[in-house]
Amino acid sequence: MYSLPQHKHTPNLHLKVCKNNSPFHPFRVYCSATSTPKSNVKPLVIEPRLVPVVPRVITTIDEHRPMNNDTGLQSTWSHRAWVTIGCTTLLISLGESIKGAMDSNMWVEPIIASWVGYILADLGSGVYHWAIDNYGDGSTPVVGAQIEAFQGHHKWPWTITRREFANNLHALARAVTFAVLPIAIFCHDPVVQGFVGVCSGCIMFSQQFHAWAHGTKSRLPPLVVALQEAGVLVSRSQHGAHHRPPYNNNYCIVSGVWNEFLDKHKVFEAMEMVLYFKTGVRPRSWTEPAPEWIEEIQTSSQIQTQ
Ligand SMILES: [Zn+2]
Ligand SMILES: [Zn+2]
Repeated sequence: MYSLPQHKHTPNLHLKVCKNNSPFHPFRVYCSATSTPKSNVKPLVIEPRLVPVVPRVITTIDEHRPMNNDTGLQSTWSHRAWVTIGCTTLLISLGESIKGAMDSNMWVEPIIASWVGYILADLGSGVYHWAIDNYGDGSTPVVGAQIEAFQGHHKWPWTITRREFANNLHALARAVTFAVLPIAIFCHDPVVQGFVGVCSGCIMFSQQFHAWAHGTKSRLPPLVVALQEAGVLVSRSQHGAHHRPPYNNNYCIVSGVWNEFLDKHKVFEAMEMVLYFKTGVRPRSWTEPAPEWIEEIQTSSQIQTQ
């Protein structure tokens, strides 16, 4: 026990911030404020506080963490059915485009439309990815499950390489089926069908391109590696930057052709500012890295099972 000197003529408040690793709270502080000199004023007394601090236990067990044999990574017959229907929809659309081009002997316009569809699919994947990375949560209507899935992907990115094909694609296949099947059936314009078929196809398969971006060069098919290195598919290095701080860039996952432009011109940051001033909602990227964004270190047993 010891004491600190008191000022005698003016009100005073002594404040001391203590930080150490002692198992005890370091002090209990008694403060007295005085405005007049008093000879019998009790001095400021600091006593050791003998109440042990219970260390904060941070649990490392996450109930949502995918395990090596997690059935949530496997395809179900429902997943396979949706992917089959989605692929059929794409084939109808592309078939209509080719048939229309042959009937009208007009090839240049459908090819250009298809190329535009491929380019815009990359932009669309980036905008959608940015939106669900930064806004909403598991309770958000329609896309809540996707938001949760992407948050889980940031934490355990390696699991996408173990997720089975139909499991990975079924949600987008279902969306493509509902959006594109009416167009595929009722529209007979080869230009429209070329654009819609290629754009929706790239969006539907973007999750597969994304999974390949998490693969290792030695384990990927040589054709995939060649397409990644040619910039036709999003590259491993480009997408790898998305999973590193500051976690607010490289959102596009089809070809990645838009990533440099969008990041260099801070397009998403500008959109975040507009949304903030209009709605007051802050994107997650302004306050991260939060635990759900930070990648957990892969254990050796997980590496061996890949
Ligand atoms: Zn992301
Ligand atoms: Zn990823």
